[in-house]
Amino acid sequence: MEANVRTRWDISWRDADEWQHAVAMLSSFFRTRTDDAQPLRLAALRVKMLIDAIDSFIQEQTAVVCPWCTDVCCIDRHGAFDLHDLIYAFALDLPLPHYSHDHREIDPCRFLDASGCRLVRWQRPFRCTWHFCDALIKHMHNLPAKKVRGFNAAFQELLAARAEMLTAFEHIVQKRKQQHH
Ligand code: SF4
Ligand code: SF4
Repeated sequence: MEANVRTRWDISWRDADEWQHAVAMLSSFFRTRTDDAQPLRLAALRVKMLIDAIDSFIQEQTAVVCPWCTDVCCIDRHGAFDLHDLIYAFALDLPLPHYSHDHREIDPCRFLDASGCRLVRWQRPFRCTWHFCDALIKHMHNLPAKKVRGFNAAFQELLAARAEMLTAFEHIVQKRKQQHH
């Protein structure tokens, strides 16, 4: 099972076979020999904490910019986990989002309601955190430079932590493969 754990990262629940395969792989990955997955779980926890740390800044900016938006980016395609989001979710024992076929990709995201996204930020697909549209970027250009520098540094730290989490996953996959042979 572990030998097949690599697959495309940009999977979606909309391809049922690929999705179920990935979920089954990760389920097996975290169920068997859980001792060596501990560094991965810790790395995911750090990602969660770093997302939490930048949440209020992003929230502050979207609260100003998004109400004026005429082309809202929260379409259903963007609310879907990819493989990397799944790894993160499994590492934190998060329940997987429930996806039903009653939304088209371009419909408003199923997690969106009148007061915004129903998922707390650290439980959203990661693209929902790293996506900054032109309007948001333009707005940030008018913020105090020190504040933006602080956010940029925190965001770089988050990106690095997420890369470390994915590297930890790859490392365990390789280690298990070697032990298997
Ligand atoms: S982030 Fe940008 S594109 Fe998305 S809703 Fe806000 S203003 Fe619109
Ligand atoms: S931020 Fe929330 S509502 Fe918007 S696309 Fe992401 S999951 Fe959907």
